Amino acid sequence: MANEEFSLTTAQVAAQRQGYKYCPQCRTPMVDKFVFGRTRRVCPNEECHFVQFIDPKLTTAVMPLKGDKVLMVKRTMEPGRGSWCFPGGFMETGETPQQCAIRECKEETGFDIEITGLIDVFYYEDYRGSGVVIMFKGEVVGGEVVLNPVESEAVGFFAIDELPEPIAFESNIQSLAAWRAGKI
Ligand SMILES: [Zn+2]
Repeated sequence: MANEEFSLTTAQVAAQRQGYKYCPQCRTPMVDKFVFGRTRRVCPNEECHFVQFIDPKLTTAVMPLKGDKVLMVKRTMEPGRGSWCFPGGFMETGETPQQCAIRECKEETGFDIEITGLIDVFYYEDYRGSGVVIMFKGEVVGGEVVLNPVESEAVGFFAIDELPEPIAFESNIQSLAAWRAGKI
């Protein structure tokens, strides 16, 4: 996708997700100010001048394959509630992207995977702000279905010509298209 399709301004991202209302250093109300090349959240206290850099969230996801089928999850939460997607979730400090993908797959489906490759890296913007999705390819090596009622309403293995609908997320749709085209 072209960059001009991404439309959130810094102020929108700040308002929607992570913009500090008060300075975390000195508690002064933060303001929007043009510094370091774009509008950012800045502490106007001249003795502080804390600048907030609002980073994209990092998500890992995995396309877990078993033979000619792919493991997918039916979502219980927005965004994409009621739609199907690959296991995945937000990275936390102290784990690698690969460990995150393996952990999320286990939590959401009960299955153990090995990471077998990198499919692509995607960027998105939505009402939560901006994010990067690291999409791995994986192989199911063990485990059995364990539904996590908080995160997954159902899980299933699907062949390319019997995929469930609807599919959530552009990263998932594009990865499935690549799989269908024989590129994965
Ligand atoms: Zn401050």
